[in-house]
Amino acid sequence: MNLIGEHTDYNDGFVLPSAIGFYAHVAIAPRSDDKILLKSTAYDGQFEFHAAGLPEQKQDVWADYVLGVAHQLKRAGIPLTGANLLLHSEVPVGSGLSSSAALEVASALALQSLSGKTLPLQQIAKLCQSAENEFVGAHVGIMDQFVSCFGKEGHAVLIDCRSLDFELVPIPSNADFVICNTMVKHELSGGEYNQRRAQCEEGVLILSKFYPGIKALRDVSVEQLIGHESDLPAIVYRRCLHVVLENARTLDAVKCFASDDLATVGQLMRASHESLRDLYEVSCAELDTMVESAQGLPGFIGGRMTGGGFGGCTINLVERANSQEFAKEVAARYKARIGISPDVFVCSAANGAGVEADHAAV
Ligand code: ADP
Ligand code: MG
Repeated sequence: MNLIGEHTDYNDGFVLPSAIGFYAHVAIAPRSDDKILLKSTAYDGQFEFHAAGLPEQKQDVWADYVLGVAHQLKRAGIPLTGANLLLHSEVPVGSGLSSSAALEVASALALQSLSGKTLPLQQIAKLCQSAENEFVGAHVGIMDQFVSCFGKEGHAVLIDCRSLDFELVPIPSNADFVICNTMVKHELSGGEYNQRRAQCEEGVLILSKFYPGIKALRDVSVEQLIGHESDLPAIVYRRCLHVVLENARTLDAVKCFASDDLATVGQLMRASHESLRDLYEVSCAELDTMVESAQGLPGFIGGRMTGGGFGGCTINLVERANSQEFAKEVAARYKARIGISPDVFVCSAANGAGVEADHAAV
């Protein structure tokens, strides 16, 4: 779940996600043959593959996420052997909470655990992202896999998407995250996501003529951008302004968390939403309604859309004493205004992936 820093990742910028306490568990046991058997408690049936001859193409089934990870592990020098894998995930599917990243990271750690070798966790995050990019064919950034790996209880994770350096940022213990799913996902024609990326690249190209060191919007200061407004097409300027200001807001939010200034974090989240709505133009009526529905409720600190946009979830920072009541109220308001009952999750920053105890076969 990303607190702030939206559409900054592919601009080499900063994001501030947290892992939340929904876990995907993968139990694994070695087999004496070379079969890899996959089962999930969420789906009937099972999948059977051979460790030595995994399918090279996706099968359009959930097992693709595990197959993609298995290919990547092999490529990284982790030998695969026969095994039974059972997945049980608490992460709701397709709710914007990245059940896919949880599945990938859990599978990677499980498969690795039988090999006797250990890759650095950062490499696990990267290879899970590659699995989703290359095998499943979903063009996701590194954030979800990274925070699945490095999340820490009571902390958000400031990630520098250029260097992949990260910093743990304590979240005051009197605040909860309330995630509200609008239950809509507008499929827009024309590849809005690719368009935004192209507009950012166009901005970089133009600005780099004035400032040769600029490789990505991450390198552009607010002053540099404002000074060259007239050199950029208006729409490109607005897109760039969002990214440059959003990077600054993300770093500001880290400082505010450090000084326990939650009120300002709330204002930064609000500003982020308005910027995504008005400058980057990736919000939608349902997201705006969900954000508005939170205003004025007791304990509400701040909220905004989270994720790529055009539907999906909002994230709200709410005082813990009020978070359960807030969840009920915001859901009722949204239902009254849009006519859809939203899924609402109250959660807090939790630990990322790890290997649980070894259990002897029974
Ligand atoms: P999300 O936003 O939840 O990551 P995705 O479409 O990226 O949505 O990933 C959801 C997919 O991940 C599911 O369609 C399924 O293929 C796989 N998946 C998630 N959770 C499970 C599970 N418990 N068992 C099997 N597959 C799962
Ligand atoms: Mg996903």
